[in-house]
Amino acid sequence: MAQEEIRRHNAGTLLRHVHLGGALSRTALAERMRLNRSTIMTLTTELATAGLVREELPADTGRAGRPSLVVRPDSGQVYVLAFDVAVDRLVAARVALGGTMLDRREAVRPRAGADLDRVVEVLARFGRQLHRTAPPSSVCVGVGASYCGMIRPGDGMVRFGPDMGWVDQAFGAELGRRLGLGLPVSVGNEAHLGALAEQLRGAGAGLQNLIYLHGDVGVGGGIIVGGKLLDGDGGYGCELGHMVVNPYNGRPCGCGSHGCLEAEAGERALLDAAGRPAEVWGRDAVRAVVDDADRGDPAAQEALRQVGDWLGIGVANLINLFNPGMVVFGGMLRDMYPGAAAQVRARITANVLPVARERVRLRTSALGDDATLVGAAELGFSDLLADPLGVLTRTRG
Ligand SMILES: [Zn+2]
Repeated sequence: MAQEEIRRHNAGTLLRHVHLGGALSRTALAERMRLNRSTIMTLTTELATAGLVREELPADTGRAGRPSLVVRPDSGQVYVLAFDVAVDRLVAARVALGGTMLDRREAVRPRAGADLDRVVEVLARFGRQLHRTAPPSSVCVGVGASYCGMIRPGDGMVRFGPDMGWVDQAFGAELGRRLGLGLPVSVGNEAHLGALAEQLRGAGAGLQNLIYLHGDVGVGGGIIVGGKLLDGDGGYGCELGHMVVNPYNGRPCGCGSHGCLEAEAGERALLDAAGRPAEVWGRDAVRAVVDDADRGDPAAQEALRQVGDWLGIGVANLINLFNPGMVVFGGMLRDMYPGAAAQVRARITANVLPVARERVRLRTSALGDDATLVGAAELGFSDLLADPLGVLTRTRG
């Protein structure tokens, strides 16, 4: 690697450490990055001059001698815009370096009849408001968006958005054009981004192998192996909701197949099993079934058991395949999982190879409904974290 490239890489790595880890002493950074303290000092000075980090004396350590300066992200200088096109809502947020959500806007999204133009119009309006109300001295360094569908990497084209019926819609390009910030919009699949967010800042922080299952109308997934998201040859991997768990008399799935995980363990499956009529749907309806079960309603309890068994079969297959350290349940599954946990665990005991289930932990999403938005923000920061000073020079103009 050329000298310049090494310096760029080290600056990005240092910034990533404090962006994700908060305040860290120079000594801790030197240990984590396996660099000597004078190199760390040069890097932090450069990043501090650029307004990306601040250095300060730590609170009294109680120890004798000169304390190591603490480096923390400067949350006032740069930010990203993050967007979330979820099944039931549209969200935009301004997120500081370090991950603090500074400001946000949110709108309810009707499930039917949302065309590209309408969705982008709402998001771009929110984005421009957030940009206008940011302090004049701060700079937008990236834009990330989460979308509930299959996304082509690189240009943010929605190849397939099942719930809105979108096929090949230039979502990323159109949002970028209407924001008018001169920045590209990086778009990712919501479950992929939820997985990254839970691994970076949520339930699985620090884990290298994690599976995230995201429920809404359907079930999406993200699989992280060795710290990297498995996205497949075209970027469309981890469609865990279409893993067939019930091939013989399975319920029909929106994809045209039968017995997919999302057909057996998704929102509609739960509501049908609980005897709710077809016109009842959505997150509140799922919560109502969970609440009824908590109050001892036998029909609601049986519905959760039935759906939990199918979910457990899917999870057991995934654990055998990937040996994750953790499985995280997000979106609607976060509400549903506690009532179905006994069935999921029973399936793991019955179907997972003993050595693969020794260490796996099952958790609900720690970031809640914002997991996908947090993932979008991290996508927005990725260019800055790859080359902090270069990106800053370009965006400050
Ligand atoms: Zn399917």
